[in-house]
Amino acid sequence: MKVLVAGGAGYIGSVTTEMLCDAGHDVVVFDNLERGYREAIDPRAKFLQGDLRCKENIKSALLIERPEAVIHFAAYIEVGESMKEPMPFFENNVSGSLNLMSAMVESGCKKLIFSSTCATYGTPERMPMDETLPQLPESVYGESKYLCEHIFKWGGDIHDIECVFLRYFNACGATDKYGEAHNPESHLIPLILQVAQGKREKIFIFGDDYETRDGTCVRDYIHIKDLAQAHILALKPGVQGSFNLGNGDGYTVKDVIEVCREVTGHPIPTELEPRRAGDCTALVADATKAKTELGWNPQFADLKTIVQSAWDWHQSHPNGYTTS
Ligand code: UDP
Repeated sequence: MKVLVAGGAGYIGSVTTEMLCDAGHDVVVFDNLERGYREAIDPRAKFLQGDLRCKENIKSALLIERPEAVIHFAAYIEVGESMKEPMPFFENNVSGSLNLMSAMVESGCKKLIFSSTCATYGTPERMPMDETLPQLPESVYGESKYLCEHIFKWGGDIHDIECVFLRYFNACGATDKYGEAHNPESHLIPLILQVAQGKREKIFIFGDDYETRDGTCVRDYIHIKDLAQAHILALKPGVQGSFNLGNGDGYTVKDVIEVCREVTGHPIPTELEPRRAGDCTALVADATKAKTELGWNPQFADLKTIVQSAWDWHQSHPNGYTTS
């Protein structure tokens, strides 16, 4: 298939582009390079630099390239940042998605796979979390993705565009070529690995007074390759709706630090900090629907395997990506 990947220079977009190319798809990456990296774009893909906030950019890309599907990753992603500077999240994530949907309607593209998040659920009333839970986001980031889902749902229903919402739990790990290099970094695993690399003195634990096994937040960590695989499966004609993507295993922040100690052999000093605004206590997926309806079969569920792949990538890319 010919697929346009919006945000293909970012972390999840770069790995999905690599795997789409491996699977023989014809890929066009559309990215503004604000937070992504030119170097992270698979050379087999065609690159168009553009910004979803500019409707003409995405409209002309779709009219010229005529992809059969769009996979949309382009967004601001940090919960903490969204609670300090909310408006850029609505502007980039929501109005960018609105422009994308309008451009898809105008260009006749009939399939969208959207990078959504478990943060759209807020604190769930039961665990593990399936797709029937109410969506009550507790952060601006989660709210922005929730609003995008609504735009796509209505646009898709009325204009006959198949929309798939993949609600990720915590993406991590790397392929040999592409890994996680946000700047500034805010995610737990890469930050811990920066301590092991000697770039940071210690890792801050954001709160140990949550109602969990050891007081720290619980998350479901999923390998980036497994995540990317789900996007490829979702391209199949007829697939639409929402799917939670996680392994169903909950790890506390302290568990993750311990696994990183085992993998890196570094003591990883820690310091306790207050809770981070917008963080939910625990988020663990029930991915039964993705497994039964998409045929999704995660291959790298073990946290040690995931952290090892991230560590290998950070060691082979000690400065992350070097060009913006
Ligand atoms: N976290 C932490 N210290 C850090 C970064 C993250 O304790 O330096 C915690 C954070 O509060 C959350 C978990 O690690 O409970 C995962 O955070 P991350 O930002 O990686 O992903 P999120 O769950 O926010 O999408």
